[in-house]
Amino acid sequence: MKYTHQFIQLDSFAPSFCYYQNNNFDESNYELIKYHQLHEVLSEAEQINKSIIVIYSNKDLPTEYHTLLDRVNHEKIYPFKLIDQFKSGILILNEENLSQVSVLQRDSSRNIILRLSQKKIDNLFEIICSLEGTFSKLTLILLEIDKFSQEEICSYKEQLVKIRKKIVKWLSENKTAEISILTDRLLLRHMNNCDAGIRHFTLAPDGNNYVCPAFYFDKNLSSFGLINSENTNLRLLKIDSSPVCSICDAYHCKRCVYLNKKITEEINIPSQEQCIISHEERNQTKELRADIVSTLKNQTELPVIPEIDYLDPFELLKHKKHDLIRNSNISNDITQELIDLALLTDREILIKVYEQNKNILNFLKNSQH
Ligand code: SF4
Repeated sequence: MKYTHQFIQLDSFAPSFCYYQNNNFDESNYELIKYHQLHEVLSEAEQINKSIIVIYSNKDLPTEYHTLLDRVNHEKIYPFKLIDQFKSGILILNEENLSQVSVLQRDSSRNIILRLSQKKIDNLFEIICSLEGTFSKLTLILLEIDKFSQEEICSYKEQLVKIRKKIVKWLSENKTAEISILTDRLLLRHMNNCDAGIRHFTLAPDGNNYVCPAFYFDKNLSSFGLINSENTNLRLLKIDSSPVCSICDAYHCKRCVYLNKKITEEINIPSQEQCIISHEERNQTKELRADIVSTLKNQTELPVIPEIDYLDPFELLKHKKHDLIRNSNISNDITQELIDLALLTDREILIKVYEQNKNILNFLKNSQH
């Protein structure tokens, strides 16, 4: 594996920039990365030309840390409280910051990560409009997606439609309109996921290297996310180890291995919610492409996004499963155990089969052709 990016989380108060939560703001548990470790990792990353991304918190750092960091070229991820301190980098906006966004200066070069729970879904369009002119790219992170109800997913889809129309309007006025959930997939011809543990890992304040900060904060899952030679889970991070993701074309999906582990208990099996939400975004991106493609000089810049009739790649395998059940050799072997299995959903059955044979989904996919 070749790591191209190095994340460094300076302390345990560093805010989450992604799907995980940091609820640990207890002074008695405060951990700050050791100075010598910071020095070491920065020197090593610089030597081999890795991009360095440092996650700052609201807590003051000792002066020597600032002096060291100032010497090294790095991208900053920082909480809302530090907007006056950092002029560039990636700003994290959480729900509690939304009432203060009017203080954000207009800035067409700023990157923003907006983290919202399902409670805010009905206001998503409004929230994005309130940020007009303050960002060059806005990345949306939907929190606790496993708690999304069917109605909330429908509301999300309605919001996506409104945001898509707004993007078309902004583009026609030559305004910045990069919003991850609708524009990331536009230019992609292959998967472009988070790739935590594949292209980057995180040095955490406890001195350990993790797939990403989520595994530092979630003590139940820490051992799954440790980067070391004994961790056999690491080979499962690659897309080839995830038959569901490897047949999917929601190329912009984060394919969050932390959420996989948390929700399905398998690091390489995505939850249904993750798949459906990414497909709603993919389908609206397809509409966005149709809205804007005629305005481009070179229309091949935007790859065609085909029409599909499913929202979860597991569906692709559904019909094959029925064919298999109809197959007489299999039906002769039906036992009470198999009858019990028949009461499970397609997805539950596939997960069980996949646990026994990691190649089964690829086999089913190939046998379709
Ligand atoms: S694995 Fe990637 S997408 Fe998931 S929480 Fe970590 S950084 Fe975010």
